[in-house]
Amino acid sequence: MSESSTRPRQSPATRPPGRNPAAGTLADALRVGVERGAEGFFLLDSDAHVRFVNAAAERALGRGRESLLGRCLWAELPELRDAGLEPLLHSERAGEAVPDTELRFGTPPRWYRVRAFADGVGTGVFLLDTTAEHALGESEARFRRAQCDPLTGLAGRAEFVREVREADDAFAVVCLDVNRVERVSEGVGYAAGDRMLVEAAARLRASLGPEHTLGRLGGAAFAVLPRGVRDATGVRRLCERMQAALAQPFAVEGHSVVAAAAVGVALASDGADAETLVRGAEVAMQRSRTAGGTHVQWYDRAMHAQTRARLRLECDLRNALQRDELHLHFQPVVDLSAGRAVGAEALLRWNHPEHGPVPPTEFIPVAEETGIIDALSEWVLRDACRALPALKAAGGDGFTLSINLSAHQFAWGNLAERLGRTLHETGTAPRDLAVEITESALLGRLDAAAHVLRELRSGGVRVYIDDFGTGYSSLAYLHRLPLDAIKVDRSFVEGLRDEPWSRQVVSSIVTLAGSLGLRVIAEGVSQPVQHEILRELGCGYAQGFLFSRPVPLDALCALLRR
Ligand code: C2E
Ligand code: MG
Ligand code: MG
Repeated sequence: MSESSTRPRQSPATRPPGRNPAAGTLADALRVGVERGAEGFFLLDSDAHVRFVNAAAERALGRGRESLLGRCLWAELPELRDAGLEPLLHSERAGEAVPDTELRFGTPPRWYRVRAFADGVGTGVFLLDTTAEHALGESEARFRRAQCDPLTGLAGRAEFVREVREADDAFAVVCLDVNRVERVSEGVGYAAGDRMLVEAAARLRASLGPEHTLGRLGGAAFAVLPRGVRDATGVRRLCERMQAALAQPFAVEGHSVVAAAAVGVALASDGADAETLVRGAEVAMQRSRTAGGTHVQWYDRAMHAQTRARLRLECDLRNALQRDELHLHFQPVVDLSAGRAVGAEALLRWNHPEHGPVPPTEFIPVAEETGIIDALSEWVLRDACRALPALKAAGGDGFTLSINLSAHQFAWGNLAERLGRTLHETGTAPRDLAVEITESALLGRLDAAAHVLRELRSGGVRVYIDDFGTGYSSLAYLHRLPLDAIKVDRSFVEGLRDEPWSRQVVSSIVTLAGSLGLRVIAEGVSQPVQHEILRELGCGYAQGFLFSRPVPLDALCALLRR
């Protein structure tokens, strides 16, 4: 049934005065007015999904409304976030009085005076094109100055993207990430890290010569727009020159530090806009970095699809918390000699409304990179604390619940204090809780981590080292850390039956742990034969599908009562 046929007809006598019967409702009239207005206008819901776009906003955003409606604005148009719109809307939603702000975006870039309002339903944004006022204006100069990186004097990200956009000969963009800088900053101090960056910038500039455009994207990442280079060989040569310049040792506080650069290249040939080109080179650079090498990684379209998927995941994850899509599952930890569960590990689960369950190995890294991990970890801790009374009632005294800590939580600085506060607020006894921290999170900051762990333990919380044996394992550092238990990584448990090496590793971990007074928990025990061997080797505790998969709270409580 159409809307008009259900609306009661009004007789001329009851019609409000001054209303043209042909024009429909006042809401219709407002909609037409907004639609035809010279000022751009769009409306977002509280999750940044686009609800309405008028014609002027379609022009300003460079996109038709059919490709935006119902979608997350930040995933569709990340350049708007980069231009500074997101923090502005955030302040508006937080109820701060935000003055009109001028932002610059679009292709070609234009200036817009942005005014936003937020109410319970969402956020409306007005865009007034002020490019003409800016043509030769003072704020353009101010804008450019502000876009320079104060440390190196190079173009910052936005300025670099602008240069790429305005270049008529852009053939490729190269991104480089100088390794070791972060390590130096953390280990020696930020001033030393900064000096290393300045030196790296100077060496890059010298190796490139003045004609190519160099920028700093943030952290230890630099970007180059080669000028006058017309083929891949030319780009490769340029990359080699820059890598050679960075390969010379850096002098840091009397030490010589050997650095290297991960390099990514994106070619302009497939018609990408400037922003996409720079992002492409960054994605390729990250690939090169993950591969651990210093080889030059060339961007391809498959990476682009992955980038978009990742952006979408990021947007969805931001909403998942509010929408109640996250919950915890619990996997029991079994005492092998007593044959009963003495604890459990809380594992985060995300049930995506469209894609179904998303594994934590997929979304935790995204949460870490985007900072969402803070809110996520806080939620996990609270929910775990809420689950504890039921678990203790079913599992008995001494039952310990462990949660996984992200490496990022170490960077909070006040981890022990924050944890203590939540424990206090939820009435949780610290000794009922354990935190699991992976070896890789400790890497390169053993002393700082030991300090934080000591604080946690002196507050009564237990500390387990997770995935032990993967990557950087060194039995030697164990005695320097205040620990309660070691969780032996699943990969060794998998190899117990057929690989003598795995057996040796587990055996030496058990021996060493015994001498340090630590418990050993074997992870991922899925076959009876592994169980048998672990008992023979004297491993005290285990966790794995053989005993139970991670299950919802009620299911674990039922299991514990059996
Ligand atoms: P983890 O802490 O080492 O957790 C153990 C993982 O092994 C879990 O995977 C668990 O489901 C799986 N597992 C347990 N027994 C078996 C088995 O017998 N066979 C096999 N194949 N797998 C087994 P899950 O839940 O997918 O979690 C993966 C990782 O994600 C965790 O590894 C942890 O590093 C991270 N994670 C999970 N929840 C959280 C969280 O709340 N916060 C943080 N920061 N990380 C989390
Ligand atoms: Mg764990
Ligand atoms: Mg583990």
